[in-house]
Amino acid sequence: MEQSFFPEKGRWYRGNIHSHTTRTDGLCPPAQQIRDYSEQGYDFLAITDHNVIDSHQLGEGLPICMIPGWERDIRHCADNTKCIHVVGLVPSPARETPCREVRRCSCLEIPDQQLLDEMRSDGQFVVLAHPHWSRMTPSEVMSLTGFHAIEVFNTGCERLMHAGRADLYWDLLLQSGRRVWGVACDDTHGKTRKSDRFGGWVMVRTEMCSPPEILAAMSAGTYYFSQGPVIHDWGIREDTVYFRCSPCREIHVTTYPPRGSSCYAPEGEMLTEIAYPLKGGELYIRVECIDEEGRTAWTNPHFLQA
Ligand SMILES: [Zn+2]
Ligand SMILES: [Zn+2]
Repeated sequence: MEQSFFPEKGRWYRGNIHSHTTRTDGLCPPAQQIRDYSEQGYDFLAITDHNVIDSHQLGEGLPICMIPGWERDIRHCADNTKCIHVVGLVPSPARETPCREVRRCSCLEIPDQQLLDEMRSDGQFVVLAHPHWSRMTPSEVMSLTGFHAIEVFNTGCERLMHAGRADLYWDLLLQSGRRVWGVACDDTHGKTRKSDRFGGWVMVRTEMCSPPEILAAMSAGTYYFSQGPVIHDWGIREDTVYFRCSPCREIHVTTYPPRGSSCYAPEGEMLTEIAYPLKGGELYIRVECIDEEGRTAWTNPHFLQA
């Protein structure tokens, strides 16, 4: 019998959880950002301007579910090649979320860990943003705790500076036993499709599209994230993990300590499913599929040991 790793009930909602507007350093006014994402078929959006939650602009009657949020940043005084950015999402409707603004802080005022702890204890869903773009070392990433997720793909950092991927940081965290989820997001600053929009999103299955439901499902890790491919289902059947997706040219299984495997479609064909027999002893398993255009979708890790 198959046991899915996805929630049984609800429908899938697509969202971008990291974007900027003219409120800080983005080029697009909030109303246009909301309209543009809605027209692209997104169900939810977080405007995460730097150090400000401006929920006054997120009123009733919008064509998309707004998740209140911000991006906190810390400037590193001793080493100006470094900065730490953290996205925080608030699990309550915009009308109930007070507007907040803080000054950008330096690492002398607040250590990175203290910022993460404050955001987490405030009830926010906390995402470590673009660690490669921030030039964080693996040991700096590993030394921080309390974040729910890490940006495995950030469209803006990838398209503008080729530093938007964090797969390796993610696997290092997972191999050390940390239960950290991944996300893909845009980190939208531009206005045009060519810049940093519509390149990576999360897909969350819930009964309703509301901030508390979306963020509860994200906290539980029962979602996937994508640049294009659709993951229809994945789960376990006896001692085999099954995975089904839209047509893809490659499907990769990552496990640890066993090292997983890669499957490639035969010439002229595409893959829509694989089955991976567990070898025993896996700490976690996760799957990525890549379509004909080279776009990836990622499952979150499933942990096999209590
Ligand atoms: Zn940032
Ligand atoms: Zn940002």
